[in-house]
Amino acid sequence: MSIRQIIHSIKMYDTIIIHRHVRPDPDALGSQGGLKELIKYSFPNKNVYVVGEEEPSLSFLIRMDQIDDQIYENALIIACDTANAPRISDERYHLGTKLIKIDHHPNVDPFGDLLWVDTDASSTSEMIYELYLHGKEAGFKLNNESARLLYAGIVGDTGRFLFPSTTQKTFQYASELVSFEFDRPALYDGIYSMKDNIVRLKGYIMQHFTLSPSGMSSVTLTKEILDEYGLKPAETGQLVGSLGDVEGICAWVIFVEEENVIRVRLRSKGPAINKIAAKYNGGGHPMASGASVETWEETEAVIKDLDEVCRMFTK
Ligand code: AMP
Repeated sequence: MSIRQIIHSIKMYDTIIIHRHVRPDPDALGSQGGLKELIKYSFPNKNVYVVGEEEPSLSFLIRMDQIDDQIYENALIIACDTANAPRISDERYHLGTKLIKIDHHPNVDPFGDLLWVDTDASSTSEMIYELYLHGKEAGFKLNNESARLLYAGIVGDTGRFLFPSTTQKTFQYASELVSFEFDRPALYDGIYSMKDNIVRLKGYIMQHFTLSPSGMSSVTLTKEILDEYGLKPAETGQLVGSLGDVEGICAWVIFVEEENVIRVRLRSKGPAINKIAAKYNGGGHPMASGASVETWEETEAVIKDLDEVCRMFTK
């Protein structure tokens, strides 16, 4: 079974480098950092690194290690929370000896020598906690810092235990994680407190979303709007879920204009929308996906597709 093989590989290698997806969210960083802490605490002689671009808004979770290419020689590489290889942050992942994928997204790109993909898991952080449970007999030990990071990842990907992906197992693991010592209010503050201009932009979204008879909603955040609020496109991440509380909403899309592309952020409360994301070179979960388009005409096409799946769903 792949969990056993993953535990065996972790025990075999002296150097382990952990990657995750570009534009990381709390689950990407929580699973990556939680796994690093788990391995370091259990096997202090191993060299364990986390790599990828820094995300300043989440630097309270973990900071990345800066490592030379030669460290990849004879290293085990683990990619957390990343469905497809091109989305792995830091493309040196292929320089290692062995590559393991641990993820909870649909397995659209089965990369790696060893894969553990569980689409029923609420988050990859939940899977790392499960890895710890399976590895206990092999010497795996969890410390407070690992518990903090894994809890952050679970909280982030379940929307504070709100989304249907939250299972009995999720609550069980979360209850075990809170028995460790870490500052939970500080963690929630780090993830959910918003700069005042982000809250103001939330106000803009709440004033400007469309709502079609099918329950499809969309909002566009152009560069001009972002400039007006003094925000960068990446800072809109906290706002994507805002429309979920609107009565009658079925699925929604937020378009965010970046330097050369328009980012498409899709969410649903009913129909699967990851096929639409895949049609526009993206992907993700059935209820939360993303893609990129290059023109405003394409955003109209996305809106039409989304309206269609909402109409089929509510029929
Ligand atoms: P986001 O809107 O960035 O929070 O993304 C929601 C989900 O969709 C996450 O699980 C991402 O991993 C996934 N996702 C976002 N953009 C892409 C993309 N371009 N390709 C594949 N998956 C994506």
